[in-house]
Amino acid sequence: MLQNYPLNAKNTLGINSTAQWFAEPTSIQELAELLELADKEHKPIRVIGGGSNIVLEQFVEGLVIELGMRKISILSETESALIVRAEAGVNWHELVMWSVKNHWFGLENLALIPGSVGAAPIQNIGAYGVELQSVVDCVHFVDRETKQQQSLNNAACEFSYRNSIFKQALKDRAIITAVDFRLSKLAKPMLNYPALADELISKENLSAEDIAKAVIAIRQRKLPDPKDIPNAGSFFKNPIVTQEHFQALIAEFPQMVAYPHDNNSMKLAAGWLIDHIGIKGECINGVGMHHAQALVLVNPGHCSGHEVLEYANSVCQRVYDCYQVKLEIEPRVYINDATLSI
Ligand code: FAD
Ligand code: NAP
Repeated sequence: MLQNYPLNAKNTLGINSTAQWFAEPTSIQELAELLELADKEHKPIRVIGGGSNIVLEQFVEGLVIELGMRKISILSETESALIVRAEAGVNWHELVMWSVKNHWFGLENLALIPGSVGAAPIQNIGAYGVELQSVVDCVHFVDRETKQQQSLNNAACEFSYRNSIFKQALKDRAIITAVDFRLSKLAKPMLNYPALADELISKENLSAEDIAKAVIAIRQRKLPDPKDIPNAGSFFKNPIVTQEHFQALIAEFPQMVAYPHDNNSMKLAAGWLIDHIGIKGECINGVGMHHAQALVLVNPGHCSGHEVLEYANSVCQRVYDCYQVKLEIEPRVYINDATLSI
């Protein structure tokens, strides 16, 4: 265990933060020993992966664990499909590139999402019309309360839009150690998102790698690289509203961008809500919303977690004042006295 370990380079929002203790277990056995020790010494535990979806406090009390298990293996294979197991510490994008280079379909739309395999089920990561839930066979974890290893099949993970059982009933309880993915050897391009379809318009017989490369190209044009401009991706979730609420909104704002969520509700593009009231591109005392993507909060001033949240609150308030729609923060906030003003 390392003491007073800097987390500055371990969170993509660029917040200056220090972990009281830090450890990187490279096996389930080592993880179990750390959990025992932390329990005995009453140390709170936080798990981090790539730090691309967290807002940290300046000093993180207790033990921060980053899983150092990084193996990928093929569990079973037929002529048309296979099951791949990736351990939690594997970099997500590296897994995607490994699978598309093998000509397997399933992960290609999720290229270039930062972070680790272990965090991917937490918010059921999604991009360009594909969510993790479409490829998960099984999630393996250690239950922090019972210290037992457990596995949940796809249905038991209760995946939904940017959500899963790991953000609900098993929040702060499951330490994900590996994920099994069901991949396909048959071409199954998912090109529902206009930006992706446009990027690939001149290509035929698309491979998984063609699609991943197109996704990478679009993302690199539009999204700030955290290495250049600290950010945590989309800072707010796209709000889901009832059809009635949506009808009232669209009557007042005919240009509002929204998509059907299910039969009774609509998903509003939070980026549009923010852009339309002129917040896109603003930067106040080192924190603001990105000039090319209004949903991405940027932190070029390396402001503290409190300052980031204070700014996020002001964005939520202004959005609420205009549309009476409450924005919800997407990243996990690790600040004890954090509150949202609306
Ligand atoms: P962290 O930020 O380290 O942790 C996030 C949460 O998961 C924390 O609560 C942490 O405790 C928990 N956690 C991490 N590892 C484990 C584990 N092994 N077991 C249990 N809990 C764990 N997200 C999308 O869905 N789609 C996108 O297209 C997308 N694009 C992004 C683009 C950019 C530029 C950035 C910065 C972020 C983007 N994100 C996107 C958000 C982020 O990349 C994902 O949520 C990602 O899965 C976070 O992984 P991480 O390893 O960095 O998790
Ligand atoms: P975009 O293509 O400009 O679209 C804006 C919003 O409209 C997105 O949030 C997307 O919802 C929604 N949308 C667009 N086309 C849609 C369709 N055909 N059907 C349903 N919804 C549609 O978005 P972007 O900002 O460039 O991002 C592209 C993709 O990468 C999106 O899927 C986005 O979620 C993902 N992304 C996520 C993060 C993150 O941190 N969570 C960061 C960057 C990018 P969805 O968000 O529900 O897809």
